[in-house]
Amino acid sequence: MPPGEFSLNTLYPPSKGEESVPLFQMPNQGMLPEMAYKKVHNKVALDGNAYLNLATFVTTWMEPIAGRLYAESFNKNLIDKDAYPRTAEIEKRCVRILADLWHSPSPHETIGVSTTGSSEACMLGGLALKRRWQIKRRKQGKPIDHPNIVFSSAVQVVWKKFANYWDVEPRYVNITPDRLTMDPEGVLAAVDENTIGVVTNLGVTYTGLYEPVAAISNALDELQIRIGLDIPIHVDAASGGFIAPFLQPELVWDFQLARVKSINVSGHKYGLVYPGVGWIVWREAEDLPEDLIFRVSYLGGNMPTFALSFSRPSAQVILQYYNFLRLGKAGYYEVQKVSQSVAQYLSKAIQTIGPFELFADGSDLPVFSWRLREGYTSNWNLYDLSRRLRTLGWQVPAYPLPPDMENVTIMRVVIRNGFTMELANLFLRNLMETVSFLDSLDRPIPHDLRYDISFHH
Ligand SMILES: *Cc1c(COP(=O)(O)O)cnc(C)c1O
Repeated sequence: MPPGEFSLNTLYPPSKGEESVPLFQMPNQGMLPEMAYKKVHNKVALDGNAYLNLATFVTTWMEPIAGRLYAESFNKNLIDKDAYPRTAEIEKRCVRILADLWHSPSPHETIGVSTTGSSEACMLGGLALKRRWQIKRRKQGKPIDHPNIVFSSAVQVVWKKFANYWDVEPRYVNITPDRLTMDPEGVLAAVDENTIGVVTNLGVTYTGLYEPVAAISNALDELQIRIGLDIPIHVDAASGGFIAPFLQPELVWDFQLARVKSINVSGHKYGLVYPGVGWIVWREAEDLPEDLIFRVSYLGGNMPTFALSFSRPSAQVILQYYNFLRLGKAGYYEVQKVSQSVAQYLSKAIQTIGPFELFADGSDLPVFSWRLREGYTSNWNLYDLSRRLRTLGWQVPAYPLPPDMENVTIMRVVIRNGFTMELANLFLRNLMETVSFLDSLDRPIPHDLRYDISFHH
């Protein structure tokens, strides 16, 4: 059989010899549904096992009854608000609930939307910052041709995309060995009158650490008193937006700080919903410039929209509301607390193995990260460790830190709902066995540098 085809038994069952089907062209004839199902099912069954995926932040398990709700709503298009007004109402309720959770001064009036994930939400947040800045500058009769945005060199890639796609100069505050998160001094050195906003991360994807939002906000307050510059903050709380309100309720990072004008979160991360949902909420309605809102009437009804996509599935929004009802604040606390306990248990154990030095121990996000101690060995590195763990089914990424620390390789584990203590102990055993094997090598493990950058998020 040529390499560009796969074989097919068209009369399944019973077996009657196989025909071939092209891989990269649509076949001329169709096939029985069972056959198509089997082909696709068997193909995707070869993917990695989601239970052993310690790389992703995104939900890999929900209660089976949530799957029922999913199946009942996957044919509804979220944008058809006129056809599905109850679904639209559920989306609105979720926005109110988040605005309240994050201490908006007017949770019932403020504006927010669901998105496909934090990436879309960040784009919307960034656009609102840019437009607000343009409006203000025009009023002052000042030029608007050189906007910049300030964030850490360890931001999630979406912010680099935002700056690139919308023509805003990215100004990085580089992290350093003694400054693992963006700090107020770094921010103050980067901002000027062309700064549309500062993005702070509640949960840096590289490490799992929180950035000091309140300290940065205070520094910008002082700057405003000193020289009159009023620079808003957007909090990228993709992960932390559903962690901090439950595990660190005393931490001030949200709309309690007047300077925080918008917050995004991924419903499909610690919001505990299957992938494709994110949220963005503005502090108050006036923080989203009115001229970014489109009023679309051709689906019947007149609805305001602010989104990059038009059609979208509604199932994830419905599942988000299911989780709010099902878990309540107490339930979210319990789920996140278990993840945090597992993360802290594992990070403590990993520290005692010997070769590793922790960056984060799981007390911010239920995420921990580590590096190989400097000078520990030249026989193996974290990429070798990652590859060997993969052969046991574990997906644990190793990757370089951003500029100024790019020589440091880091490994990270994300603990999510459903990762039990039993799995944690299995992982620990496999990790220790693998380290002990690597330590037994009497010369460097041969490796191809091309593969020394693994997947990460
Ligand atoms: C995951 C993440 C994003 C992107 O979110 P998606 O929901 O995957 O689109 C943005 N920022 C941070 C801090 C993240 O952790």
